[in-house]
Amino acid sequence: MSAELTREEIARYSRHLIMPEVTIAGQRRLKDGSVLLVGAGGLGSPAALYLAAAGVGRIGILDFDVVDESNLQRQVLHDTNWIGKPKLESARSRLTALNPHVAIETHATALDSGNALRILANYDVVVDGTDNFETRYLTNDACYLLKKSNVYGSIFRFEGQASVFWPDRGPCYRCLYPEPPPPGLVPSCAEGGVLGILPCVVGGIQATEALKILLGIGEPLVGRLLLYDALAMSFDELKLRRDPKCPLCGENPTIHELQDYVAFCGIGRGEDADDESAFHGPSSCRHCTPPHSSGSLREPAGAGRASGATRCAASQALIAAMSSGVRRDATCAMQSGASLFRRPTFQLPICPAT
Ligand SMILES: [Zn+2]
Repeated sequence: MSAELTREEIARYSRHLIMPEVTIAGQRRLKDGSVLLVGAGGLGSPAALYLAAAGVGRIGILDFDVVDESNLQRQVLHDTNWIGKPKLESARSRLTALNPHVAIETHATALDSGNALRILANYDVVVDGTDNFETRYLTNDACYLLKKSNVYGSIFRFEGQASVFWPDRGPCYRCLYPEPPPPGLVPSCAEGGVLGILPCVVGGIQATEALKILLGIGEPLVGRLLLYDALAMSFDELKLRRDPKCPLCGENPTIHELQDYVAFCGIGRGEDADDESAFHGPSSCRHCTPPHSSGSLREPAGAGRASGATRCAASQALIAAMSSGVRRDATCAMQSGASLFRRPTFQLPICPAT
């Protein structure tokens, strides 16, 4: 360990230092630590703010977007003065003002198979705040190949998910979602909307997990999928198992290097999450045997509780299936229909940044 704390840092982090789980030794670990945020949008905003405030010594942010007025309802890292300007510049300005003791490193690029390993290799922990499936699978695979912990989060409307994919300690994202959904099946936040404060909760959970990993304390969300429902104000947890047949982390892996994720996800190059044309497509599920239409999984009208949080029979079956290890059935239904429930219990990991 190398980083000594300055007098100013000791004053700044005093509420950390008095906790026996942190102390000066833990704060020095944070100062020595580094986190890469993939995306400076909805999830990346609270994560970046709290990681910087906590004193993580080096924070990398990867984004190539500019601040749009419609971002400001939830992307609290940015403000009105930065509309039309790069998110990375906004982020650097805000985070440096918040805590000048942390180094902010910006990567003005999309993550791709050509740069992912090089960029991710420079950080201890990766926080996945991506807004598309290509980058999500890419981040997962790169983290696994580099043996980096990958703190995952996703949001949609009133619901969120979080987990930690930590190579050799638990399952990876591919164990949970072996294949991306058919292009167009899952609505984006631009289509479906998102409660502005939702990413605060999920991004905050991601930042919490990143800090715990750096500090080496607590129980990380490894092998667990946390489900947050803002309408019901409830948290549920599903156990995740490593899939022995996972092509990445299974017993006979077939993925040993990064892939062509655009082809894998079946989405045309150049489409971004704000391009709604990227989200129009088939409404049947190609993973199920026999195939079914997403409509067959819809919750019957009027079946919800007053809170709107009642699970339909299909989603209850999903939980049972997933809990009992019938992973593919649960995954399949989650990918095909759950996000289309009138009151979704599950949703796909999409669209945190837009
Ligand atoms: Zn896996």
